[in-house]
Amino acid sequence: MIHSVLFKGSKKYIASFLSGILTCGLLSACGRAPVQTSSAIVMDTVFTVTVYGDEIRPAELLDAGTALDENVLSRYSDKSLLNLYMNEGVADLTYDLEGYVIDLNSYLDRCDEIRDTSAGAFDVHIGALCDLWNIEGAVKGESEFALPSENMIRDAMENANITDLGSVGKGIYLDLIKEKLDENNVQGAVISAGGSILVYGSKDDGAPFKVGIKDPFETSGQPFGIIELKESRFVSTSGSYERFFESGGVRYHHILDPMTGYPAWTPEDIKGRQTIPATALSSPYPYGDVYPVSVTVIADEGFISDALSTACFVMGPGMGIGYAEKYGAEVIYVMNDGTYITSDGIMASEEERLVFRLD
Ligand code: ADP
Ligand code: MG
Repeated sequence: MIHSVLFKGSKKYIASFLSGILTCGLLSACGRAPVQTSSAIVMDTVFTVTVYGDEIRPAELLDAGTALDENVLSRYSDKSLLNLYMNEGVADLTYDLEGYVIDLNSYLDRCDEIRDTSAGAFDVHIGALCDLWNIEGAVKGESEFALPSENMIRDAMENANITDLGSVGKGIYLDLIKEKLDENNVQGAVISAGGSILVYGSKDDGAPFKVGIKDPFETSGQPFGIIELKESRFVSTSGSYERFFESGGVRYHHILDPMTGYPAWTPEDIKGRQTIPATALSSPYPYGDVYPVSVTVIADEGFISDALSTACFVMGPGMGIGYAEKYGAEVIYVMNDGTYITSDGIMASEEERLVFRLD
């Protein structure tokens, strides 16, 4: 089975027939352990959980996502720790989720460390800028898309009061789930949380896990490529094709460049980069006039794969590949001309399909 990162694009369609939670348990042949699969809308996207064996119920793992979002991460939930932090500056930002203690302060510190080491390509305190662009609202049809003025963009860039954890929430969730799977001695699982996936342990048939990279160009309905993984890994993809609005022939999407205030790699962003003095982002075209349309990061930690996919998207391959490697992660860039660029630890093989394996 291909566990692909496809879900977000077709979110509305899936949501319309997912009434609450769908659950099915299948007993596979040869007396193997049951395979349980269940899906739900969590963190505003489709999460799908597959567990090989019966040590834990998928519904429990999905419920943990909702609890994590509502109580800790969401800025749209009045009771979340993130809102306590933003509104009241509360010092103790820990939440006990059924015995798993989540420390928001330590995640915020780690986000700020990534901001600093990525030369500002990644910054969770750009909520005001996200709200100004409101790509999500335009995609959902809740608001009209309007190109913000330079002044509005500048004002939003100066406002660091709104923290948005959209870039790391699914990764933090997957780290929590991995702990739960470890403690319950689960044999194998695939947890798909929007653009981030955890493949865990081993499948019932012993075959490698296959994670599809969505084709950003949607030429054939097939994935751009398949990542084969033999053991537990976190895989996150960030792409400009995920949530976007088109205006004047330009795709304005949801991954913003905090240095210019524009969606990364739009013409305005590229122009803005050329005016930024000697930063990591100042060389927009390290590979000729091509730029990324999607970035997939493979890591040993969900927080890292999720944060780095966003950071590396904004940084581009020139800086992003070495950056991911410093965190022990591997990265696959898909560029606007249909080519791909990978870090050294990935072997690409053109078989029936394009397959990526860890070296
Ligand atoms: P997704 O949430 O679609 O999986 P990402 O993990 O790349 O995609 O996160 C994108 C989200 O992160 C945006 O919707 C926004 O909330 C936030 N964001 C956008 N640009 C940045 C950035 N440069 N640094 C940190 N967060 C960002
Ligand atoms: Mg991310």
